[in-house]
Amino acid sequence: MSRTPISQLGEFGLIRHLTQGLKPGQSSTVYSIGDDAAVLDHKGKRTLVTTDLLLEGIHFNLEYVPLRHLGYKAVAVNVSDICAMNATPTQITVGLGISARFAVEDIEEFYAGVRAACEHYKVDLVGGDTCASVNGLTIAVTCLGQADDKDIVYRHGAKPNDLICVTGNLGSAYLGLQLLERELQVFRSTQHDNLAKATEHDEAIHEKFEGREYLLERQLRPEARVDIIQALRKAGIKPTAMMDVSDGLSSELFHICTQSKVGCDIYEDKLPIDYQAVALAEEMNLNIVTCALNGGEDYELLFTCDIRDYEKLVPLDDVYIIGHVTPAEFESDKPEQPANLRLIPRNGNPMPLTAQGWNAF
Ligand code: ADP
Ligand code: MG
Repeated sequence: MSRTPISQLGEFGLIRHLTQGLKPGQSSTVYSIGDDAAVLDHKGKRTLVTTDLLLEGIHFNLEYVPLRHLGYKAVAVNVSDICAMNATPTQITVGLGISARFAVEDIEEFYAGVRAACEHYKVDLVGGDTCASVNGLTIAVTCLGQADDKDIVYRHGAKPNDLICVTGNLGSAYLGLQLLERELQVFRSTQHDNLAKATEHDEAIHEKFEGREYLLERQLRPEARVDIIQALRKAGIKPTAMMDVSDGLSSELFHICTQSKVGCDIYEDKLPIDYQAVALAEEMNLNIVTCALNGGEDYELLFTCDIRDYEKLVPLDDVYIIGHVTPAEFESDKPEQPANLRLIPRNGNPMPLTAQGWNAF
C-alpha cells in the first residue's frame, strides 16, 4: 500500500482530510469544526466534560493494537465516563500528537475508528488539535455530555443497604491483554529467525486466538454501556452512586465507598465472569477472582441503588447484583478511608478487599 507523508497534506490539509463530510447531529452543536472554537448550546441542561489521554507505550502497543480499534476505543472510554454520570454524551474533540513514522493512511485508519464510534454513540466530532510529536502517538479525547441536574449520579451517593451492581462481566479485557502480550513475546523471540518460522508462527497464533476472540475484543474494542443507562432510565431506576470500571472493580469500590463514606460486602460467587476468561486464567495460572477484581479496562458500569428498586432491577439484561453497601467502620489511623470493604468468598469467611487497580505510575 502506498504511504502518503503527512507533509504532503500539511497540518490544515490533514485536518480537512480527516474531518471532511462530518455532519453534526446533536441539537446542542451550534457550530462545529472550522473556527477557533466550537459553539455549543445545552439549553438549560447541565454540561458534563471529561478527558482522557492515551499514550503509546503506556496505554497501548501498536505492535498488536490495530489503529482503527484504537480510534474506536479512544472515543468509547470517554463516552463511558459520561455514561457513568448518567448523562448523554453529545460531542467530542480529538487531540493528536503524531510522530514521523505515521503516514496519512495510518491516521485515516485511526479516524475510521473514531468516526465509527461517533456514529455508534451519536456524538458529534466538533474539533481537536493536530501536531507533530517527537516520538509515538499521543491521543487526547475530550467528551461533553448533557443531563438534567436531577438525573446526574455522582460517586458519593451510596448509602447503607443499597444494592451493589455491575454490568457485563469482569476481567475479560485484562485476560485479553495477557493473551496479546504473551503472543507478542513468542513472536519477538521467533521473528528474526527466518520467514518459514514466521509463517509457522502465524498459523500457531491463529490457533492460540481461536475461541478467545471475545477476550481480544474486550481488550481492543470495548463498548461504553450507553444501553444500560437507557435501560435504567426506562425502568425508572436512578442509581445512588455510579462509576465506570476502568481501573478494576476493587479500585472503583474504594472510590465509591470513600466518597460515600460507607463500607461494602461483595460476594465472590456473584461476580460475573465470562467462561473464556475462566479458561484462559486457568491456562495461564492466574487467579480468575483476582483478575475480575483488579483487572481493569472492562468499561462496565458499577452502581449502587436503593433496595426498593430490587423488583425493577431484576428483569434488566446484563445487570448483576454482587453485594450491598454497609455502614462505614473507620480505623483511627485512617479517618478518611472506610476500613470495611469486604469480599465474601465461597467459604464464607470475609476478607478485606485490596485496591491494586491499574496505575500508570
Ligand atoms: P487553532 O490554530 O485555533 O488551534 P487549528 O488549525 O488547530 O486551530 O484547527 C482548526 C479547526 O480544526 C478547529 O476547528 C479545530 O478544532 C479542528 N481540528 C484540529 N485538529 C483536529 C482533529 N484532529 N480532529 C478534528 N478536528 C480538528
Ligand atoms: Mg490547533
